[in-house]
Amino acid sequence: MDKPLFPASIPVTNAFSACELGSDFDEQFFMLNFGTRLLTAFTDKDILVDIALETLADFSRGERLAVLSLDDKRENLEVDGVFSNLRPSRPCLSFPAPGTFLEKVMLEKAVVVHPLTVEQGIPLPAADGPAGKEQCLCLPLVGTAFRVVGLATVAVPANHAFTFFEAQQLRVLSTVLAVSLENAKLFSRVITDGLTNLYTRRFYEIRLEEELYKLKRRQSFLSLIMFDLDDFKKVNDSFGHLVGDDVLRQFGLLMQEHTRKGSTLVSRYGGEEFTVLMPDARLEEAVALARRIMTLCANTVFGDETLPIRITVSGGVASTDSSESLSPKAFFQRADMALYKAKNEGRNRIVIWNE
Ligand code: GH3
Ligand code: MG
Ligand code: MG
Repeated sequence: MDKPLFPASIPVTNAFSACELGSDFDEQFFMLNFGTRLLTAFTDKDILVDIALETLADFSRGERLAVLSLDDKRENLEVDGVFSNLRPSRPCLSFPAPGTFLEKVMLEKAVVVHPLTVEQGIPLPAADGPAGKEQCLCLPLVGTAFRVVGLATVAVPANHAFTFFEAQQLRVLSTVLAVSLENAKLFSRVITDGLTNLYTRRFYEIRLEEELYKLKRRQSFLSLIMFDLDDFKKVNDSFGHLVGDDVLRQFGLLMQEHTRKGSTLVSRYGGEEFTVLMPDARLEEAVALARRIMTLCANTVFGDETLPIRITVSGGVASTDSSESLSPKAFFQRADMALYKAKNEGRNRIVIWNE
């Protein structure tokens, strides 16, 4: 068996000195206050990790930092973000946690400072040995019900000693970060459809209401496309529901790949029905997108090489602007009525409401 990377027990370090409140206290308190407030203001994991990295870098004066979180099986530590050369980045890396020093830190929920090793730019505690020029601060991220969700590691100069108050402040920051990361994960699960990875109907409905409200306050447009896969029951009946699920996933991906990221909201309304909400888009733009997706769908081979499947899709498009004051239901009904017309006229087509 390979020699473990980390020592078997957490050594007692003299890294925390019991000094009085320093002159830096106000500045550090301000930094922490600002960082924790920012952490509670966002629900996007990447943004939270960037805020945490920058706050920790300012607070600890560390030049190399990482935020790592445990995966769902609690076996691997995934690197959520690294801060070095004065900027954050997101390498796609993970480390097995069992048997490592970091696992011990998480089990004991202990803030420790340890000799440092750097692997692929990531500061990690080193196996036993004399400390070099730098050491590694390990900060477990303890969330709700005192559950550890990951940790932050910070490279700090070997001669740097954190005060008791700094250690306390770091604990506050790590708790806020841990709870914010947990909330971000829950939020992402609630708004994401498990099969297709698109937004859920509930999230679409919330956004539709918000976008219609915005139209009342500023001059703009809002467009909506409603798609329904044609004769999808036949796909299930011919190939089984699992293959049908794959086709739904592939169609979801096709829509995601061909819509503008950011403003356009692609959701799974239910079953084999999808909505595309386009803030600030005029009718012509929505119709062009709907036709592009319809054509792509008809020209795509779904399934796989062993089981190629062809499908088509029908769509209804509606658009409104600040001169109207539609309810979400009334606006949706327009796109839905147009979709029914597309079905009745023979499928594999796009119909515009009221045309
Ligand atoms: P139309 O062209 O009129 O829309 O015909 P259709 O067969 O697509 O419509 P219908 O409403 O008769 O059938 C919808 C089918 O979609 C039936 C249902 O089993 C299938 N479906 C809904 N949700 C899922 C799902 O999550 N996975 C799979 N595999 N099939 C689903
Ligand atoms: Mg349907
Ligand atoms: Mg259908």
